[in-house]
Amino acid sequence: MGGTLEKIRDSEEKLLFRTYGRYPLGIAKGSGNRLWDVDGREYVDLLAGIAVVNLGHCREELAEVMAAQARKLVHVSNLFYQEEQLELAKRLLDTAHFSKVFFCNSGAEANEAAIKLARRYQQRVKNKYAYEVVTFEGCFHGRTLATVAATGQERFQDGFMPMPEGFRQIEWGSSEALEAAISDKTAAVLLEPVQGEGGIRPVSGDFIRKVAEICRKRGVLFMVDEVQCGMGRTGKYWAFQHFGVLPDIMTTAKALANGLPMGAMLGTDEVSAAFVAGSHATTFGAGALVSAVASKVLEIMKRDNLPGRAAELGDWAIRRFRSAGEACPGKIGEVRGMGLMIGIELRQSGKEVWEKLLRKGFILNLTQEKVLRLLPPLTIEREDLENFAQALEDALRTS
Ligand SMILES: *Cc1c(COP(=O)(O)O)cnc(C)c1O
Repeated sequence: MGGTLEKIRDSEEKLLFRTYGRYPLGIAKGSGNRLWDVDGREYVDLLAGIAVVNLGHCREELAEVMAAQARKLVHVSNLFYQEEQLELAKRLLDTAHFSKVFFCNSGAEANEAAIKLARRYQQRVKNKYAYEVVTFEGCFHGRTLATVAATGQERFQDGFMPMPEGFRQIEWGSSEALEAAISDKTAAVLLEPVQGEGGIRPVSGDFIRKVAEICRKRGVLFMVDEVQCGMGRTGKYWAFQHFGVLPDIMTTAKALANGLPMGAMLGTDEVSAAFVAGSHATTFGAGALVSAVASKVLEIMKRDNLPGRAAELGDWAIRRFRSAGEACPGKIGEVRGMGLMIGIELRQSGKEVWEKLLRKGFILNLTQEKVLRLLPPLTIEREDLENFAQALEDALRTS
């Protein structure tokens, strides 16, 4: 790596809290499915800013909306009506069975809103003092105190005790464990249809349908976290739509405004009664600028049928990566995923393979030590994925 990166690194060391373990790369610019580092090297982006930049980097259509809205109105707060929010809400609600939206600024905030809504629904609509949220081992719901409690992993909770009360974690995929975990205190179940940080672990259709049924039967809200797996990535707008279930509450964020910070919580008519004026709020949520951009994102997704593209290309890619595994016996444990949310689980630590791929110009993520995680822009070309598959075979052969 060049001298520029060293300088950036030294400067960062003095200026920023050390919360991030960075990749050895400084990114200077992006366009479409490509990124360039500070030394001018080009990369194929198979990570999309962690499932955020679904329509590719610096897309002209979005830049135009951004520039025009920046000159018209950026922010006035939620003390005022803003039509930009309504256009976005209509487009978003058009993608699923929900009837109301609350906008915020991140995935964790969307989950906080869902947790608060679930508690308030039980306590004020159902007049029942229920507050507990059941989550699943391997999940990730964010880094605020409540969402880190929901996430339930020691490495995210270390040194932050005590955790907020009201969360309970059970085995992923066990409906017996769910039946046993639900009590009078249970307000909701929160589930990622495809666990992202947990290593790309899709839920089984049988299990998610069982969860929905148990929730219905026991008077518990069924909530899905689609912060990572939503927005067309798995081949439908929302991953739960593969399974014929109808959650009460859904959260989303990452790809909603293609890189500008935005989150949303969607709910059915039934649960929406639990929030009244003053129940919940955010200063920044759905400002005019970010709303205009997110509207355009949804317009493009529909116009270009990006969920359909993700389904088709994803099916092909998963088959292609499996054949890469067959070409290099003993190296790949499993290739799994849905649409363009793909995990390649290696039999050993993936660090060396990941580094080799980075040196060959492919940006992706390594999660759970052994899982190469691909979350490319939904605009990625088949040729880019084919080149990656060949680079992967090379990397596996020499590791
Ligand atoms: C990223 C993520 C979050 C947290 O989103 P932030 O915007 O980082 O707060 C929550 N849930 C899931 C499934 C995620 O992937």
